[in-house]
Amino acid sequence: MINFEYVRASSVADAIRQIAAEPRAKFIAGGTNLVDLMKDEVERPTRLIDITRLPLKAIEDKADGSLRIGALVPNTDLAYHPLIERRYPMLSSAILAGASQQLRNMASTGGNLLQRTRCYYFYDVATPCNKREPGAGCSAINGLNRMHAILGSSEACIATHPSDMCVALAALEAKVYVSGPSGERAIPFADFHRLPAETPQIDTNLRRDEIVTAIELPARGFADHYTYLKIRDRLSYAFALVSVAVGLDLSGGTINEARLALGGVAHKPWRDPAAEATLHGQAPSAENFKRAADVLLRDAKGYPHNSFKIELARRAVVRALTQAAQGTPQSQSNKKIL
Ligand code: SF4
Repeated sequence: MINFEYVRASSVADAIRQIAAEPRAKFIAGGTNLVDLMKDEVERPTRLIDITRLPLKAIEDKADGSLRIGALVPNTDLAYHPLIERRYPMLSSAILAGASQQLRNMASTGGNLLQRTRCYYFYDVATPCNKREPGAGCSAINGLNRMHAILGSSEACIATHPSDMCVALAALEAKVYVSGPSGERAIPFADFHRLPAETPQIDTNLRRDEIVTAIELPARGFADHYTYLKIRDRLSYAFALVSVAVGLDLSGGTINEARLALGGVAHKPWRDPAAEATLHGQAPSAENFKRAADVLLRDAKGYPHNSFKIELARRAVVRALTQAAQGTPQSQSNKKIL
């Protein structure tokens, strides 16, 4: 591991001042991804700014029905919070599908958004990787690419975003609150993460001198008809090959609104309003679910080891929509896919 300075931020304003003053500084909270990256010398910060004592650990029920989640709320506390379990069970389920209990105890809400891809080549500094070193090339395109993207990739990078929590946040249309030298701004979740295009080294639209302070969930949580279905090589402590977050608003046998987001398939949680629109005003039938899956995956492109993910995703979407419509969400404790 490289040498670095360690300092503590005393307030959000102090954290912003400190990150702005040192271009190679990094914030550290739970450290569940950053410490690994530092051990492998993928990340080489000159200074770590510890933000764990900042007052960003509250979950506030707002008068307009929305919920504001502090960026330092641990993943475990968020997953088991009574308001999340009752009003946003899709989010609770997605969090519990990820990582391990120990990691969820340490990992923060803001850090979960900012975790980096688990592409093997990104962590292996002996191999070319455009995300680690722009212009070096992408080892995955002609290498081992079983875990990689089938949607939204570029010739520069085919990595996926590893988070489960973010897939549910995308389906719920959360907002990310960030603070920087010019004040606070809110970023719609769909605009927070980026596709790789020509700049795969930049994962998000967070500016270098900004800090994530909170996530806001809109009032609507789709608690009656939801699921988070995660397909992976083993049933615990593995990243998704494909995951699906679904929320449906159903009445009288008709879908009034559908939310559908995929994980494990792109550089960001993947949503497509056109796929959701095919379900609006329709019956929750297998035929309609297949049509939505076809639209969602119409631009999917496989690589030598991951083409199977296209059909896997199609089937997972149909299964997840069926689970949500029937009110039988995927259990994260019963290690069996429903
Ligand atoms: Fe690097 Fe992206 Fe290629 Fe992986 S897929 S080797 S992260 S450029």
